[in-house]
Amino acid sequence: MTQEELQRLVEAISIEWFQQPFTHEAMFNARLKTTGGRYHLNDHHLDFNPSMFAQSDEQTVVGIIKHELCHYHLHLAGKGYRHRDKDFKQLLQQTGGLRYAPAVAKKTSKLECYQCVGCQAMIYRKRKIDTERFRCGRCRGKLVWQETKRLNNDND
Ligand SMILES: [Zn+2]
Ligand SMILES: [Zn+2]
Repeated sequence: MTQEELQRLVEAISIEWFQQPFTHEAMFNARLKTTGGRYHLNDHHLDFNPSMFAQSDEQTVVGIIKHELCHYHLHLAGKGYRHRDKDFKQLLQQTGGLRYAPAVAKKTSKLECYQCVGCQAMIYRKRKIDTERFRCGRCRGKLVWQETKRLNNDND
């Protein structure tokens, strides 16, 4: 989904489900990690999580957009726009917005490290392997597990 497609989708959902136009900006923000979207009180724009959108089906994406539009329309109308507010809970239910953002599947952030007892080659795998069955590709020597390496990919 492009930035433009996102903007049009948010505008369409706003008209269809809230009977009111969305007149601000909707954009992808890769810095969002655990939330599907965010409403900004100061300039009224909406941020959405691009990796969550990429991993979710259409129904979930629409549910996330509805959730943020609930914040948006209630705040602009001077009503209770926070999660704990009755107005928010009601509108969310009416429009079928998602209560919580779906969990994002974590990318592999570790490697299993093995060393061949024959040629000393280091072998890395994403998962633990059965060292009885898998041997060194170079010399067929036995592999011995060394450590689990944690990869530092905080910006995924
Ligand atoms: Zn929210
Ligand atoms: Zn070897």
